[in-house]
Amino acid sequence: MRQPLLIGNWKMNLVPDEAAALARAVASASLAGVDVGVAPASALLSTVRSAAPSLSVYAQDVSAHASGAYTGEVSAAMLKGLGVVGALVGHSERRTYHGEDDALVAAKVSRLQEAGLEAVLCVGETLEQRDAGDPWSVVAAQLEGALGDASGTGLTIAYEPVWAIGTGRTATPEQASEIHDAIREWLSERFGASRAAIRVLYGGSMKPANAGELLAASSIDGGLVGGASLDAASFGAMIATAGSR
Ligand code: PEP
Repeated sequence: MRQPLLIGNWKMNLVPDEAAALARAVASASLAGVDVGVAPASALLSTVRSAAPSLSVYAQDVSAHASGAYTGEVSAAMLKGLGVVGALVGHSERRTYHGEDDALVAAKVSRLQEAGLEAVLCVGETLEQRDAGDPWSVVAAQLEGALGDASGTGLTIAYEPVWAIGTGRTATPEQASEIHDAIREWLSERFGASRAAIRVLYGGSMKPANAGELLAASSIDGGLVGGASLDAASFGAMIATAGSR
């Protein structure tokens, strides 16, 4: 069984003092046997690295370009220089509010892997797509589109049904497992033996009340947690749940 990984996606929340305090609290709730990471906004990465050096820190995004005249962008090399371990890519909020498509997401995966960083690729269907009856075909197309040139090393997948993100609505363990199983099979065909180390996380309104049943599913290797990761006690409770898996 892969060691569970929980990443807190802090989105555009917290100011430096708050981020430092939360990072310290998360670090002290960390347990042997559970990999724990946080993904603060880029302006907070240095603060969090300094406040909690033992914590794995992820960025929420990365530039598709290696360097150059791209005002406002942050490169994979810059993240690496800060001691960041990886970045989320293709989060549904980036896809929805910034028009990111699979080709752009694929370039971001490549920049991260070239820099030796971990790409946490977010995939997931909208409610409309689920209601149309075939959520897997949406997820499969996102995997194909984003991982054409990718390596199986330095890769994590986060299945995040868009209808469950920030809505309080969670996929049932059965709904999540069905897609996670299909992702695992896809990874096996695409990456062969190296798929064994690739973790597939669930994301979408995960909280202490539902983390136990989700993390008990054998194909769910951890969680990408938004809202509930901003509360140290809630995130700490989920770390403890992952540790007793
Ligand atoms: C997310 O933003 O990746 C997420 C899963 O958010 P929430 O847990 O708030 O649904």
